[in-house]
This record gives sequence, C-alpha cells and structure tokens, in this order.
Amino acid sequence: MILKVVKYPEPVLTQPGEKVTEFNDELRQFVADMFETMYSSQGIGLAAQQVGVAKRVTVIDLSQGKDPAQKLALINPEIVTSSGRQYEEEGCLSFPDIREKIVRAAKVHIRAQNEKGEWFEMDGEELLARAFQHEFDHLDGILFTQRMSPLKRSMCLRKIRKLQAEGNW
Ligand SMILES: [Zn+2]
Repeated sequence: MILKVVKYPEPVLTQPGEKVTEFNDELRQFVADMFETMYSSQGIGLAAQQVGVAKRVTVIDLSQGKDPAQKLALINPEIVTSSGRQYEEEGCLSFPDIREKIVRAAKVHIRAQNEKGEWFEMDGEELLARAFQHEFDHLDGILFTQRMSPLKRSMCLRKIRKLQAEGNW
C-alpha cells in the first residue's frame, strides 16, 4: 500500500522516533509499504516520520528497486563510527524541489536490526553514507535544512514560504 508522504512543516517530521521492540507481521507490512511508497516517489530513502509515524524505521535503496541486493530495511539503526567529509547535493521527499549541498561524513559504519530483529553491521561510503546520515537524522527528528548553513537554510525556508503562498507546496 502506498502511504502518504508528509511535507515540511508537518510536526511529526521533527518528532524523535520511538524504538521498535516488536518485530511482528505489522512491522513487516509497514516496511513493505515504506518500500512501495519510496519507489512510487522515486526516492532512495524514506524514514517512518515521512509517512507520519514516529518510529525508528527507515528504508534505503540506491538502485530504486532495480537491484534486490541494495534493498535495506534498517530498524533502530545507529552510526557506530564515521570519518572523512563530503559536500554534495541532497534532496528529501518531504521537501519537494529543494536541493542543497550538505556536509556529511564520507564513510560511516552502522548497525541496525532487520525486519526479524536481527542485528547487522555494514559500511557505507559516498551516496550510501549520505543516505544513512540523512535517514538516521529523520529518526531523531532532524531535517536536512538543519544541516545547512544559516544563510542557505533561510533561503530554503523563504522558497518554501513562497511555494506555499502560491499553493504549490
Ligand atoms: Zn529526507
């Protein structure tokens, strides 16, 4: 089922997610719905807050459904270590048409639980490292605008207000 993606400034987007403790069919259905929603929006990552649920669940697939090996469901994820620096353009399904360069770590090592509750660890570099950091931020209620410089953030928020005033947001 395709879920509704909420846009900034929906309050749930700034709400830290609750830890998932039950790995049941309901959770697995929610994860499946999140993948379906992400693919239908041509995204490479989606956090539960973006579909109105403040829980620590996120899905990532850099291949956008083309390569099953890249399909990642991450429950209660955390960054274990990070290193380096990258400065690339980033977007967010909750901020349509907004793209801005954001500083992120170049490499991260993460741990998370899968849909069955099993812990796993993995490394991410470049775009995958960026996706991990962007999505895990969502789970803490942190939006990519908060990672921008104050000047760029105010430019973005002004653009959004203009779009809202025109009825295009
Ligand atoms: Zn996002």
